[in-house]
This record gives sequence, structure tokens and C-alpha cells, in this order.
Amino acid sequence: MKLAAVAAAVVLAASACGNAGEDDGTAASGNEYEVVDNPEFPEGSRMAEIADDGSIKIGVKFDQPGIGFKGAGQENPTGIDPEVGKIIAGQLGLSPDDIEWVETISDNREPFLQNGTVDLVIASYSITDERRQIVGQAGPYYVTGQSLLVAKDDDSINGPDDLDGKKVCSVKGSTSIKTVEEEYGAQPAGFDTYSECVDQLLNGSVDAVTTDGAILLGYAAENPDRLKVVGEPFSEERYGIGYSPDAPEMCQFLDDSLEKAFSDGDFEKAFDATLGKSGNDVPSPPELDACDA
Ligand code: GLU
Repeated sequence: MKLAAVAAAVVLAASACGNAGEDDGTAASGNEYEVVDNPEFPEGSRMAEIADDGSIKIGVKFDQPGIGFKGAGQENPTGIDPEVGKIIAGQLGLSPDDIEWVETISDNREPFLQNGTVDLVIASYSITDERRQIVGQAGPYYVTGQSLLVAKDDDSINGPDDLDGKKVCSVKGSTSIKTVEEEYGAQPAGFDTYSECVDQLLNGSVDAVTTDGAILLGYAAENPDRLKVVGEPFSEERYGIGYSPDAPEMCQFLDDSLEKAFSDGDFEKAFDATLGKSGNDVPSPPELDACDA
């Protein structure tokens, strides 16, 4: 009797391990990061305000496996971006339970930072000069490049030069849609989210989806029989952490927190539990931009 109960428990544990989310970086990482006890910050700084408040609002994606994902029934989002959020929160003296996760889509990241809907945006958010005119961006913590997702049986698209006249789906407010519109002769179809684009590709309404390779690998891993990522990356996307334009003091704090995570192994732990599972190579830590850049 006792043995049977043990056997049943083992079967349950095994099936939990085998669930689809576990391999594509959508399962909770279980990682724990340092939570600093009573951290000290300059009086009046945004860091001190957040630490005193005891909670932080972080904008992440909810539909990008491996990057930022929150499926039905999932309590908290998973992916490299929420993991980075937990690392940063820990340096503010906050535990994961003190984080309020807010869904951001590409097009509302700047407004959410400008109007205080969130304290930070960690959402596959490429650092660009244009964005830095209106919000703060620290980092980068990860570098990827724009790529293409096509149907597995499509041999006609192997790189951006094959996009001429093709219908290509991407997301409004992203660097990806801009690049494909401005530099290649594709017919762009702009949606709010990449998961909508993937649906368009699966139902044959578009010929390709374009955005960062790290994002596309996550979708391909969910649908390996029908989708593939093709070609070499054709842009450089440096993922940064967005902060309020009214709190420039956040920059050095965020860079210092990232530097620490690169050197003490926490970033690698975060990567292995998320993006590392959908076929992305473990990166060497990128060089951080100086805060007066
Ligand atoms: N990293 C690019 C960007 O920030 C594309 C991915 C996204 O839209 O989140 O625009």
C-alpha cells in the first residue's frame, strides 16, 4: 500500500516534469536570487522610494515563450525578462512576491514608463537612440538579432532578401517592423503582438513573421513540426531595462545590478532556466553602456 502510494507520487512527479512548458522556458524557473537586507540608497532617489514602498511594478511581455510568458492558469510570468526583474527587485530589497507584473506590448512600453504605469520595462526592449530621447534604458543585458519565422515546408524564404513582395507580419511600435518596412521590400502586416503574428502564419494569411531571433526560437520550439527560423540575423537588438525619464539615477543602479548578476552567475542561472531551453546559445555578458551615453 505504502509502496503503491510512493509509485503514484513518482508518476505524478514525472508527468509534471514532462509537461510542455518545461522544455521551452515557460515553466517557473524556481531560481532564487539575492534579496538585499535594508539596502541603502540616496535620499529622494527613485530606488529609495521603491524600496520604502516595498513593491515594484514591472512591465513584461505575456506571450513570448522563453522571454516573457504568462499562460492561462500561470500565476506569474516566466522567461528571461521576469528573471531579470527578480534579480533587480532583489537589489532593491524586494522579494518576487513584492513584484506586480504588468503586461506590456511593444507599442505601450514608452507611454507606460512616461505615465508611471510601471517602474521598469523588461520586455525584449531594444535600446535605441530614438527611445532614449523619451525614456531611460540601462543595459544591455542580452544581444540578439532580427530573424525570420516561416512555415516548415516553405523553401522560398531563406533570408531578408527573399522578402520582396511577401506578406510579413510584425508588431506595431517594434524595431522589427521598422527594419522590414524601411530596408526590405516586404508588404508589412502590423499587429499588436507576436503571438497574433504566429497565428497569421499558421493559418496561411502571411508568408513570414519577423522579429528578434530569441523570440522566434521560442515560437518555433512550441511548434517544431510546422515552423522554422531561417537565415542569419540581420540587425543587432540590445535588450535594455526601461526606466522613467524622470529618474535618471536609476541607470547606474540598474547597470550595477546587471554587472553583479553577470559576475556572480545569477544571470547565467536565469538564462539557462529560460531562453537556454529554446535553443539560444549562452551569451557572454555584453558590455554595458555608460550611464551618460
Ligand atoms: N527588440 C525589438 C524591439 O524592442 C523587437 C521585439 C519587441 O517588439 O519586443 O522593438
